[in-house]
Amino acid sequence: MQRITILGATGSIGASTLDVLARHPERYRVYALSAHSRVEELAQACRVHRPQRAVVGTPEAAARLSALVADLGIAVEHGEQALCDIASSDDTDTVMAAIVGAAGLAPTLAAARAGKKVLLANKEALVMSGQLFMDAVKEHKATLLPIDSEHNAIFQSLPQHYARAPGAAGVAKILLTASGGPFLNRAVETLGGVTPEEACKHPNWVMGRKISVDSATMMNKGLEVIEAHWLFGAPADLIEVVIHPQSVIHSMVSYVDGSVLAQLGNPDMRTPIAHALAFPERIASGVAQLDLTTMAALQFHKPDFERFPCLALAFDALRAGGTAPALLNAANEVAVQAFLDRAIGFRDIDRVIRQVMDEVEHGPAPSIEAVLDQDTRARAAAAAIARLRG
Ligand code: NAD
Ligand code: MG
Repeated sequence: MQRITILGATGSIGASTLDVLARHPERYRVYALSAHSRVEELAQACRVHRPQRAVVGTPEAAARLSALVADLGIAVEHGEQALCDIASSDDTDTVMAAIVGAAGLAPTLAAARAGKKVLLANKEALVMSGQLFMDAVKEHKATLLPIDSEHNAIFQSLPQHYARAPGAAGVAKILLTASGGPFLNRAVETLGGVTPEEACKHPNWVMGRKISVDSATMMNKGLEVIEAHWLFGAPADLIEVVIHPQSVIHSMVSYVDGSVLAQLGNPDMRTPIAHALAFPERIASGVAQLDLTTMAALQFHKPDFERFPCLALAFDALRAGGTAPALLNAANEVAVQAFLDRAIGFRDIDRVIRQVMDEVEHGPAPSIEAVLDQDTRARAAAAAIARLRG
């Protein structure tokens, strides 16, 4: 019986994870669930999955949750330390890291430091902490499995005992596919006026609002380039972004002998979630089998860096190294939230990030404290710049 903690249980990934777990009660038991503010939804999940512990953001939310689940005997806690505790407890084996943004860094790192099996959806945590996170995984013998569909596809297309050395494995390129999001073909001059609702309407995937906006700017792909760099030990030049609007191929690995291995499937996150939960076995996920005969065409083309400047900014941050990716991530989180709050326009997102990257100093990342300090400084600068643009 695997005992599971889900960080971010009320989100899109959290809900998909609970769906897969419910299909295999003989294999998995939920140990702990967390949510930030959606207390009613968490209470509902607690009623169905009966965790021992539940964590929310504030004392007020904890009081509300306690009242809603008073009959279930669940320990209700709140705050970052409690998140770190449920991620590192001796009573859990596997941690689904599905909090959105920098808020997930501390508990995800705590899970790695406790040597857990870490299922990583929270790409921002790895983008921010990069080498430090990978070092923690190695030092504490944690198992890190990617949930992001592209990285899960790459993982499945690499040799079973791949050791983060592309050259030694004969890897010529990592081909990271991207749908291009809702604005792939929209006239560039009209992008300034798009609304948060339009930006959140992804053609193939249903996701949380932040990652949906990231997909519309293609910052999501930029963060995924950095994520792939750390997960697979691949330098920036080895990672190529390929636009594939149908989201059927979830990414590919191209080898020196001319072979290209790909993973395909319907666009449903329960596939990578089930893959990582059961790895190296396979379990049913609830996702329908892919029917290739119903597909009209699979298309591939190069990304347009002028339409999607965020993609170029992410490559810049990866090449700059140190705390630059943490700077990029923090500026992006602030700019996306300002856009969702209708304080700035869609095209202001990349402008705010660029200005923060130009103006805020960054350097080496010797410690998590240095990363968090960079995050704080970048957020303050991004908020000030967004206010001027708003
Ligand atoms: P979401 O917005 O639907 O859910 C986010 C979860 O994080 C919620 O449970 C929320 O309660 C929690 N949360 C938010 N702010 C928090 C805070 N300050 N402290 C603690 N908890 C907080 O997001 P999502 O779409 O499920 O995405 C989650 C993560 O997975 C993101 O990092 C995203 O990039 C990644 N991801 C998502 C998808 C997808 O299909 N949704 C695919 C690949 C990767
Ligand atoms: Mg992805």
